[in-house]
Amino acid sequence: MITKSGLRVLLVEDNPDHALLAKNAILTSKDRKYIVEICGSVEEAIEKVKNGPINMIISDYNLPGKNGLEFLEWLNEQEMGLPFIMMTGMGDQKTAVKAMQEGAYNYIVKDDVYLSVLPHVIDETFIKYLSDKEKERYEREIREKNVALEKANRELKKLDQLKSDFIASVSHDIRTPLNSVQESIALILDGVVNTSEEKGKKVLEIAKRSIGRLTAMINDLLDFSKLEAGKMRVHIEPCDIQILIDEVLGSLKSLAEKKQVKLVFHPVEGFPKIVCDAERMVQVLTNLTGNAIKFTAANGTVKVQLEAAANDRINIIVSDTGIGIAKEDLERIFERFEQVKGVNSKEHLGTGLGLSICKELVKLHGGEVWAESEIGKGSRFIISLPFGQKFLKENILLKGEKVTT
Ligand code: ADP
Repeated sequence: MITKSGLRVLLVEDNPDHALLAKNAILTSKDRKYIVEICGSVEEAIEKVKNGPINMIISDYNLPGKNGLEFLEWLNEQEMGLPFIMMTGMGDQKTAVKAMQEGAYNYIVKDDVYLSVLPHVIDETFIKYLSDKEKERYEREIREKNVALEKANRELKKLDQLKSDFIASVSHDIRTPLNSVQESIALILDGVVNTSEEKGKKVLEIAKRSIGRLTAMINDLLDFSKLEAGKMRVHIEPCDIQILIDEVLGSLKSLAEKKQVKLVFHPVEGFPKIVCDAERMVQVLTNLTGNAIKFTAANGTVKVQLEAAANDRINIIVSDTGIGIAKEDLERIFERFEQVKGVNSKEHLGTGLGLSICKELVKLHGGEVWAESEIGKGSRFIISLPFGQKFLKENILLKGEKVTT
């Protein structure tokens, strides 16, 4: 630490007259302001360094007790990186060389003129020390940036691979319903089936379902690219979330009935409006509830609940009694293109984009979405949204249960 009042130089010199002369010489520096503290021995100097802050050390070699080289050794052990200047007697260049080898920044031989050069040696040493520090900082920054770059590179490669796999699988997934539409039309055009008859109507139904699946996939792709480009806008206004939930459950009623899954919603009387984009919230809830139905076997239950949470937030919980999600997949399923390996059979066709779109849409509302689950027992998807207004917990006490299927 460099204090504003000046750089603290520790001068280790056992001869008081020499110490005073050296101190006065250092104070004549025109480049920098120094504060010089004198110590008569290495032992005393060690105490000073321990109690810091010291910015530079200039030490005589010949001292009572430990000598200057031993002091340097101790400093090296502390790994403080303080600039150290060794003062040696006339003709003792050997010690000076040894000190430099041991990591001293500079040395000065106590000859007849050393007092006049002392301030320059100190100024120079300090400049060298600062530039070394700067170099070290740059090198450290470069090393850190390299590590970050390598990590980003690895992630990009992984994403690139996922994107390639995704394009391959989506092209394949698009071809299946497209073929089915083509075949249905061919059957009708070739007169193999008649649309006024039961068989023909079934063929049309199949074509309609395939077109529905294609539309859903294309909508996912469009939303995904809009979100990736940061072009998705939400139109936020006060909405009755319970009406939206009713709408979602209504649209999924036939799917749930087909799968013999019970849909349950706990309406809350007088539940205040929340601020959100109604269309996008319906999209998110449809995705979560649709998934919940898809991954739940016959006689299971899918429940939607509203819950007050801390910090003026509201939780919308979509829970099911389905197959569950392994712990290691709970976060991954919200990532782009991720599906749980081995889970997605033909019946569960999807792009693997649904949950990542949900996550981004909820984020655009200032909220969060996450999942809790246990394999074989079911899953809970929780959307936490800022409520936008103060409300009383007792307002949203559950009041009865409404079974819609
Ligand atoms: P997809 O469009 O393929 O369904 P999603 O992003 O919606 O993709 O979901 C990702 C994956 O998370 C699904 O493929 C499925 O493996 C798993 N998943 C999502 N919801 C549930 C759930 N309620 N129960 C079990 N697994 C689920």
